[in-house]
Order: sequence, then C-alpha cells, then structure tokens
Amino acid sequence: MRIRSEKFYEEAIKYIPGGVNSPVRACKAVKCNPVFFERGEGAYLIDADGNRYIDYVCSWGPLILGHAHPEVIAGVYFASKRGTSFGAPTWQEVELAKMITELFPSIEKVRLVNSGTEATMSAIRLARGYTKRNKIIKFEGCYHGHVDSLLVKAGSGLATFSIPASPGIPEELTSHTINLPYNDADAVKEAFEKFGEEIAAVIVEPVAANMGVVPPKEGFLEFLREVTQKYGALLIFDEVITGFRLGLSGAQGVFGVIPDLTCLGKIIGGGLPVGAYGGKAEIMSLIAPEGPVYQAGTLSGNPIAVAAGLATIKELKKPGTYERLEALTSMLEEGIKDVLKKLGLSYKTTRVASMFTLFFTEKEIENFQSVSSCDTDKFAYFWQAMLKRGVYLPPSQFEAWFVSLAHTEKEIETTINAVYEALKEIH
Ligand SMILES: *Cc1c(COP(=O)(O)O)cnc(C)c1O
Repeated sequence: MRIRSEKFYEEAIKYIPGGVNSPVRACKAVKCNPVFFERGEGAYLIDADGNRYIDYVCSWGPLILGHAHPEVIAGVYFASKRGTSFGAPTWQEVELAKMITELFPSIEKVRLVNSGTEATMSAIRLARGYTKRNKIIKFEGCYHGHVDSLLVKAGSGLATFSIPASPGIPEELTSHTINLPYNDADAVKEAFEKFGEEIAAVIVEPVAANMGVVPPKEGFLEFLREVTQKYGALLIFDEVITGFRLGLSGAQGVFGVIPDLTCLGKIIGGGLPVGAYGGKAEIMSLIAPEGPVYQAGTLSGNPIAVAAGLATIKELKKPGTYERLEALTSMLEEGIKDVLKKLGLSYKTTRVASMFTLFFTEKEIENFQSVSSCDTDKFAYFWQAMLKRGVYLPPSQFEAWFVSLAHTEKEIETTINAVYEALKEIH
C-alpha cells in the first residue's frame, strides 16, 4: 500500500508541473503514479509508507556505492561544517580535478560544472569555438542532457538537418545538428563526405545507456576517432554515465579510444550536483579566463558536492571494486537469461559492466530503431509486477538498470526470483 505516496503526489501536482522535478520520475511510461521516497540504505529504498525496495535506479547512476555510504556522508558532513559555498577556489576542487586528469587518458585539464547538461553544453560551445565550425553530429537515442541544440528528432532521410524535439527550441538552433543512427559508420561517413568542412564535433555516448544499454559495435568508436581526425573535427565522449561506471578511466579506458573532449557527471558528484568537461590542454585553454570561450557558474566546484565526489572516487579506487560490480551484474544477467529460457521467452538482454537492460523485443539490439520495437505496455506491467515484489526498476523500458557496490548476492537472487514471478504473471 502506498497511501502517503498517493497523498503526496496529489499535493505535488498542484505546485510542480507533473508533480515532479524531472519528467521520467512521473512514472507515466509504466502507467503508475510516482513512489515518494523517504530514505535510502545501501541497496534499498524506503518509501513514504515504509515499504522497502531493492533499488536499480541508484539515482540514475550516481550512487555506485549505494545509498548513504558512510564515507560520502562523512565527507558531506565535514565539508558543510566548514561552510556551504565560497564562490572562490578551494583545495578540494584541485584535488578532484587532479584525480580526474590522472585517471582519464583524454583529460589534461578539466572544468567543474553543476550537471551533465552543463558539461555537454559547454563542451559543444568549446568545440565550436576551437574549430570555428558550427555543425554537430549526434546519434539518435543518445541523450546529452536538455541542451537546446541536442534535443532533436531525425529529419527525413540520412544526414538531413534535425528538427526540434521540443517546443521552445527555434529551428535555427537545431539546424546545425545532424542526427544519425547509433552504430552506423556508413551514415557518419556519408555525413562527413557531405559536410566535412563544417562539422565541429561528433558527440557520442561511448556505450549508449539512455535508450536502454546499447553497446557500441566493434570498430564503431575507432571509426569515429579516425573520421573526426581526418576532417579536423573534435570527438566528444559523453561519459556522464560511463565515467567511473565502466572503470576508473571510463569507457575510453576500456575501449582504448581517446576522444578530444570528455563530459562527466553523475558518479563524480557522488549523489550531489556535479558535472565536468575536460580534454587536451591546448583545447581547454580556450576557456575563460585563459581564453575567449565563456563559461561560468556561481556554485561550480561547490565544496559539499566536491567532497561527495572525492569520497566516492576514493572508495572506487580500492582494489576489486569493479571486479565485484562485474561479478554481481553478470550474476543478474545470467539469472535473468535462465528465467527467460525457462519461460520460453526470447526477449533480449544487454549488459556492459554494471549496467543492464531487459528489452521486451526479440530484435537484435543495436540502435534506436531496434529498441523502438519493444513492447512498452508489457514493460509497464512488468515494472508494476516488480514493484509489488519489492524491486524498484527504472520506470521506463529505455533506461539502464544500475547495480551498486551495496548490492549483494542476496539482493540479486531475490531480484531474479521476482523477475521469474513477474514475467509469469504477465504472460
Ligand atoms: C544524465 C545524462 C546527461 C545529463 O546530465 P544531467 O546531470 O541530468 O544534466 C548527459 N549525458 C548523459 C549520457 C547522461 O546520461
């Protein structure tokens, strides 16, 4: 029973558009009202009515250590006692920047901001400033925050200019954006042949995780590196999710493809608002005050947020953390694959490191078109059936499930059993 949740929601919609401060939270895609939460404890969320759930949202990725990790809480506590914000530099910002540059092969200098959206928006401004070109290539189904010029739908035909995906965005702003299918090297090649001299950058999620988890095909990221270099465009990896999720050096460390600019967010704030963008010193030196490309922020490098990020990364640097995440998530994947087999269902699953998606489709998963074939109604009933069994999944088919270091074999086992029963119930 979620009596208080329902009451809170009734009130919320009076004062907040849709009752939520970010749209997916509204749970519309799963035909449900949002659950209001009161507490997080490790792998668990406790709602306003005292119900407990195993959490696979993990705040959409940042909580790789789980909820209320003691080191993160201590970092936040001691930082806040020293003051909440100074609008002037602190040593801790330097420590975080130094740590990021040491770990990420592409990053020599880094600027801290307050969100992933700010990071991608600023990286694109910088890429345009550096190349003195305007056009940007992005991929359908990749999400880079709510940046005007990146909120686009594909126009008709390959390599045509994109149309705004939201009212309030002038066509002039998206007319410089080229929206191509993920994993389609030929489409990228064609776009460069047509517009090569005008393209400032290609921005990509090295592992797409905002249409469910969609791994890059072999050679795709390498191809993006080659073609951008050939035409003098920059390659931007949006590692807001994959940074510190795939490993301490992000997807670039795993795939060995080094972009010109990298965007970070989510995990580097340990559950507080932090984003970052960085890259070669030569490019980053164009940012104000060193250079003419303007970018600023009243709360950028906020001491409390930085403390949470530092504590999180320090924990991740301990030996065995990524092996542990890999083992747990592999157990989840294998368990769910067994369940599908047992029930005679041929739905697809994907997994990269500690990110996982169960797709309600039988098509091979390689881009936005293939994930669009999913039965989203069925997913909605599955989500509800899982919630009833104490498992809180991302409330949309097109999201990654995140496993944290607070999850254990016990939670994974409970989840696999719940998946079996939920799938049986809805088929
Ligand atoms: C979440 C996300 C963003 C946006 O970050 P916000 O902090 O929500 O603004 C950008 N890019 C990717 C890949 C993301 O997953």
